[in-house]
Amino acid sequence: MKTLYDYTYDQLGELMLSIGEKKYRGQQLFEWLYRKRVTTFDDMSDISLKIKTWLHENVQLSPITLKTRQVAADGTVKYLFAMEDGALCETVLMHYSYGKSLCVSSQIGCNMGCTFCASGLLKKTRNLSSGEMVAQVLYVQQELDKEQERVSHVVVMGTGEPFDNYDNVLNFLYTINHDRGLAIGARHLTVSTCGLVDGIRKFAHEPIQVNLAISLHAPNDELRSKLMPINQAHPLDKLMEAMNYYMSKSNRRITYEYILLQGVNDSDAHARQLADLIRGQNAYVNLIPYNPVDEHGFRKVGVKEALRFYDQLHKAGVKCTLRQEHGADIDAACGQLRAKHERKR
Ligand code: SAH
Repeated sequence: MKTLYDYTYDQLGELMLSIGEKKYRGQQLFEWLYRKRVTTFDDMSDISLKIKTWLHENVQLSPITLKTRQVAADGTVKYLFAMEDGALCETVLMHYSYGKSLCVSSQIGCNMGCTFCASGLLKKTRNLSSGEMVAQVLYVQQELDKEQERVSHVVVMGTGEPFDNYDNVLNFLYTINHDRGLAIGARHLTVSTCGLVDGIRKFAHEPIQVNLAISLHAPNDELRSKLMPINQAHPLDKLMEAMNYYMSKSNRRITYEYILLQGVNDSDAHARQLADLIRGQNAYVNLIPYNPVDEHGFRKVGVKEALRFYDQLHKAGVKCTLRQEHGADIDAACGQLRAKHERKR
């Protein structure tokens, strides 16, 4: 059964029109769902019995149920949710000084095949609907409501490639951004892609000012094609062209994610190549400590080596940050918890 969360603000209005109701009923529904955050149709006190009956017969509310919930020493919470068809997806809540950031999955499994990533251990079986993504945020927000806290940031960096599920991801972003609902600011939303250039070009024209992050992880084609098969289809010159296009249209600063893998992409020469590759762009590099995945055999670099790489980039004029590690003790690397769970089944 379709979930009401699959409908954007505008679509809820159209839905109400289509069943012979006034459009503004859709706006009321939206506020019940995302501002008052009710868990049953019956709690929607100013909605008529006729509409409620229609809702009961035709749509549902949350399409997800909690399977497991793990809390790390640093407070990071990892949720494993089951969809209606039994498919499992992961969501991670991280606590920062600036707020609470939720990492949302966009697909069941992933087909991009990055060699270091746990998500790709399980191939994509399907896309998540926008409602299934909204439900991840709403579930955690309802939990935080008890402490008067809120999900302030959302990153689409869980399992899946968001631009391989473009329309659902965009509807999801529009829904959680809408000021009549959860109102998570566009600048607090980030989509991360492994580099699907058509998606990047399309994204440049979206009227919503969401941040874009690119999983780069290597500064030359030879290495990047080894680590990330997508690079064979969309090599670095095509990716950089798309990024320049995106920046010229959107005027927004972009983030490059770069996991430091010991002895693989962490030399001084790699740092210089990286600086040359993105010189002149309004971009910064986020250096990510690798979260080791048993099956893959890559190792993370030590703090000293990470700082050295950081310094090299800095000297070459690149703005960069070293990301803090979160929840390493609870399988928080994308797809790890789910992969473990599926093996047990
Ligand atoms: N498919 C999208 C979004 C999901 S991955 C993308 O590729 O961007 C989100 C980020 O986590 C990516 O930068 C990815 O490369 C990184 N990542 C994957 N496995 C990781 C691991 N084991 N340790 C640290 N980062 C990882």
